Amino acid sequence: MKIAFFDAKPYDMKFFNEVNQSFGYTIKYFEYKLSEETAIMAEGYEVVCAFVNDNLNKEVIDILYDEGIKFIAMRCAGYNNVDFKATYGKIHVVRVPAYSPYAVAEHAFALIMTLNRKIHRAFNRTRDNNFSINTLLGFDLHGKTIGVIGTGKIGQIFINICKGFGMNIIVFDKFPNEKLDVEYTTIETIYKRSDIISLHCPLMKETYHMINKESIDMMKEGVMIINTSRGGLVDTDCLIEGLKTKKVGSAGLDVYEEESEYFFEDFSDEVLDDDVLARILSFTNVIVTAHQAFFTKEALYNIAETTLCNIKEYDENKKVQNEICYNCLNKSNCQRNVTGKCF
Ligand code: NAD
Repeated sequence: MKIAFFDAKPYDMKFFNEVNQSFGYTIKYFEYKLSEETAIMAEGYEVVCAFVNDNLNKEVIDILYDEGIKFIAMRCAGYNNVDFKATYGKIHVVRVPAYSPYAVAEHAFALIMTLNRKIHRAFNRTRDNNFSINTLLGFDLHGKTIGVIGTGKIGQIFINICKGFGMNIIVFDKFPNEKLDVEYTTIETIYKRSDIISLHCPLMKETYHMINKESIDMMKEGVMIINTSRGGLVDTDCLIEGLKTKKVGSAGLDVYEEESEYFFEDFSDEVLDDDVLARILSFTNVIVTAHQAFFTKEALYNIAETTLCNIKEYDENKKVQNEICYNCLNKSNCQRNVTGKCF
């Protein structure tokens, strides 16, 4: 199997090369993202390996299909950047459903701790010989109400961390898990009662901009909003407005709706063209991390291993466990249980 690997970073190459020693595939690393302009580079390969900010729209899928690509291995859990209508019946798509839910849940909690106790500001102050603690006042997390939206793999680990802090936890999920020992409630109650809201649900049509003017209006004065899921869940303009009116007390964002232009790249020598991103970065009560919640050694190893296992299953004509298709997403009949593949 020859794999065209897009948006390759040094850490990807390190972990994939290490894990690939026991698979023996040919991997060509391209540093640029997959797009309508770069898809041509996949010619002569059988598999495309892509990540969160690669573009897999209909135009790109059609180019890849014409080049003979039969398999797209997403090396991430989210798949909102793939046009599954375009891939269906043409190109099989797999993902890595879980690589380290601990990594993301722990990062979400790190954002809460940092924002609440203002560690980012304290760090800068003491390095400047400023030992004043004025304006660094936080609050006890113990006894505060945290609203968790999405109780899947990451949400569940995040809930356990919150339990350890003695927080009052309320949760919302479109598909509640009865096995969990948590208080499910309505989304409106999450908005109205939470001191902190943390998003752990996927980005879909129905969740797009779920944090908007209307939902922010329902929230408590000074609410903290944490998003480690996908940028599109939050209407950034409304969040900025909420921060300006102080309705939103603070925000921790590992993702941003227009992140594909910037995240994972170094622009330290340039002027930011994105005024919305520049404005959000200007608040001292906002922390933006560049989609790094997943970024632990364990996660990178698991990503490489699961991605290559996914490819191996297809290569050996076995059931492709982590395949996902248009029918899977629409919960209609999928062939995978019968034929081992979605179509
Ligand atoms: P998961 O599939 O295990 O859980 C998602 C949960 O969201 C499920 O319980 C599902 O029922 C629920 N859900 C679906 N639609 C919903 C809706 N409309 N409202 C509320 N809940 C809904 O996924 P996960 O592994 O827990 O990952 C959660 C999200 O985290 C992913 O979608 C991905 O976008 C994001 N993620 C981010 C990073 C990062 O580095 N920042 C890394 C991995 C995943």
